[in-house]
Amino acid sequence: MKLSKNFTLAELCATSTGVENIPTEEVIKNLTYLVEGVLQPLRDVYGKPITVNSGYRCEALNKRVGGARTSQHMTGQAVDITTMTKDGNQELFAILEGMKFDQLIDEKNMSWIHVSLKADGNRNQRLRL
Ligand SMILES: [Zn+2]
Repeated sequence: MKLSKNFTLAELCATSTGVENIPTEEVIKNLTYLVEGVLQPLRDVYGKPITVNSGYRCEALNKRVGGARTSQHMTGQAVDITTMTKDGNQELFAILEGMKFDQLIDEKNMSWIHVSLKADGNRNQRLRL
């Protein structure tokens, strides 16, 4: 199922862990909001493919990968993305800084980027972890 021109529900829920990671209707709604509000607009500006490392994580999957206890990945409001290069990720980060988001995180010196978006109450928080 396509969520937008360049992103599918399957890639937003993919995992290599073998954990059954099935999104609820609510999660699909949040993922759609995230893709339409951030991911696809970012892809359109960047103009090249963006790889999704991790989108939705059910509780078991989040635990398995050592995610934060209150991770927004568990509600489908967050996604980890990469261009496969630090320079590319730097570029993504700069584009994202001009967009609406809840949290924007530079993970491990641009190894990947975490970005989240909520329907309302976005904190516009930038972090480097
Ligand atoms: Zn993340």
